Amino acid sequence: MKRFKLGFNFLGSIRFYIFLMVFAAGLIPSLFLTSSIMSSYENRTVSAETIRITAQSNVLANKLVSDGCFEVGDSQVYSSQIDLIASYYEGRIMLINTDYEVLYDSYGIDDEKTIVSEKVFECMQNRVVSNYDSANNYIEVCVPVTEEDDTVIGVIMVSKSSTEIYANMAYMKQNAFVMQFAIMILVVFIAIYGSGKLMKPFDVMSESIDKIQTDYENEQLSVLNYNETKQISKAFNAMLSRIKTLDDSRQEFVSNVSHELKTPLASMKVLADSLLGQEDVPIELYQEFMTDIAEEIDRENQIINDLLSLVKLDKSQGVLNITSVNVNDLMELTLKRLRPIAGEKNIEIVYETLRPVTAEIDEVKMALVFTNLVENAIKYNVDDGWVHVSLNADHQFFYVTVEDGGIGIPEEAQEHIFERFYRADKSHSREIGGTGLGLAIVRNAVLMHRGAIQVNSTEGKGSTFSLRVPLLYVQ
Ligand code: ADP
Repeated sequence: MKRFKLGFNFLGSIRFYIFLMVFAAGLIPSLFLTSSIMSSYENRTVSAETIRITAQSNVLANKLVSDGCFEVGDSQVYSSQIDLIASYYEGRIMLINTDYEVLYDSYGIDDEKTIVSEKVFECMQNRVVSNYDSANNYIEVCVPVTEEDDTVIGVIMVSKSSTEIYANMAYMKQNAFVMQFAIMILVVFIAIYGSGKLMKPFDVMSESIDKIQTDYENEQLSVLNYNETKQISKAFNAMLSRIKTLDDSRQEFVSNVSHELKTPLASMKVLADSLLGQEDVPIELYQEFMTDIAEEIDRENQIINDLLSLVKLDKSQGVLNITSVNVNDLMELTLKRLRPIAGEKNIEIVYETLRPVTAEIDEVKMALVFTNLVENAIKYNVDDGWVHVSLNADHQFFYVTVEDGGIGIPEEAQEHIFERFYRADKSHSREIGGTGLGLAIVRNAVLMHRGAIQVNSTEGKGSTFSLRVPLLYVQ
């Protein structure tokens, strides 16, 4: 299977991108969720703690004021209360007066020192100030101590360690990490399974195409798992059937060509053998057989020439040598060349031109078209018959009709006469010397000029070939 082939570029495969997407879609939200839960837990816990400390500090401040602690100025009076609360918090409480002097420090470190800090200063403006220092793990709250008339007479500053919050968070982080690891493993499995499942039809498709390469006659692509693969299968099968048709027509063409080329050779062989097989052949018989052989050689030559013209037209698709051509002159010239042949059967060619026509065409190829049509009108005609050729134009196209009062074409043959090697009446055609390639050449050349051709014919009465070609050639 392709996916495990040595040297298979996994990073360049769709499977990898699907894997990556599923992986990212599974893991990123979980990481995001964890970090947001952690941070909101921290915020909520710190703010609840801050509220609690503030409330307790307010109670303490009121108590200190009502006890007249600031007036007495004796730390003995309030130290026991402050120590009690400090030990309850497992924190440090400092009482600061309006001179920024520490009246009491429950840790006994900064007693009687002066504290000048922004927080204390702000708190002296009768504002509660709190601060959470996550790096050093403590919460600090400054509560103003006010008299009844709201005059600030001091500040209570409480610092409390937040290691408990930190420890809780570390525990939660550990749990989250284990969860995330489990999610990651789960997501990896889902991603591998999902990408494999999604890409499975494409593996099947590539295997089918490998099979089709070796046997495109009998195989078809049929991967119907998804709408997309259905579409691809449908388009692929349409392309396959077109290739089959092309291949069939190529094979048919090759077999027709070899058949057509072999027929004159076979005749020559028969003629030559019969001459060689007899003794004392009269000179008249030699002459007769040699004439027949010469005719077969001419026929072989004709087939080869027609084939070459056709191949040239096929190969030079789009390679037209476009020039501005006087179509009237071209037709006159064609008819001039063909009149002697028509004369042999006493066929009258009437040419009618309604206006001068100049068109952007490939002169050589269009001459081939005119020649083949008029030649056919002469070939498939009756003695003393007639051929009527007309040329007309409007602002967009020029129109040529080649009409004859000849043998006509049977209805069922009309749709096939433009096919290579098709001949409506094989015996008659052979006698006349047709190769079945003339109208195929005509059709190819007309289509290359973005023109159109059609036939109208009644058996026994005659045929009309009508041609329409644009005056201006558009690439
Ligand atoms: P061919 O070399 O046999 O003439 P074409 O491709 O020119 O080959 O024509 C194909 C067949 O169409 C001819 O064999 C003939 O049966 C028929 N056909 C073509 N032109 C005419 C026509 N003007 N009248 C009657 N039959 C025609």
